[in-house]
Amino acid sequence: MIFSGKIKRFYFVDRLLYFVIIEKSKYIKRKDEKLKSYRKELWVQTRNRRELINITPQVEESLRESGIKEGIILCNAMHITASVFINDNESGLHNDFEKWLEKLAPEKPYSQYKHNGYEDNADAHLKRTIMGREVVVAVTGGRLDFGPWEQIFYGEFDGKRKKRVLVKIIGD
Ligand code: ZN
Repeated sequence: MIFSGKIKRFYFVDRLLYFVIIEKSKYIKRKDEKLKSYRKELWVQTRNRRELINITPQVEESLRESGIKEGIILCNAMHITASVFINDNESGLHNDFEKWLEKLAPEKPYSQYKHNGYEDNADAHLKRTIMGREVVVAVTGGRLDFGPWEQIFYGEFDGKRKKRVLVKIIGD
């Protein structure tokens, strides 16, 4: 595998040479194939502290923009108090998530958490950990290769401010 990005750091570990490529590689060349790489940040601002948002349409739009037909999509929250996860687009279930997460890591009283010295979002860090950081979806024939009822959600646990979701697509 040959990377076209510049090699910025070398590591020599156990007689093997490792290098880290810091600059973004546009293409990963493998034999005669050229894999495309696409990156986009989605911005989210919720009105409430906690919200679940179906971001499947935005991820599908990113996929169309990328022009990639076969590959992999990575989609992750870029903040440690928000999640990206896949589940059912059903409001009853979303209500169940809210109740379940509040039982596991209640927002209040704020004083119950050591993290809440200067902040009040310890519960949001814990909720994000339970719901996960990212999802990976196969791309087949230019479409998200979902199972039945699968949708991608952004889970906000400490909202009312601008946050980002990263979409990275690799394929051809
Ligand atoms: Zn915090």
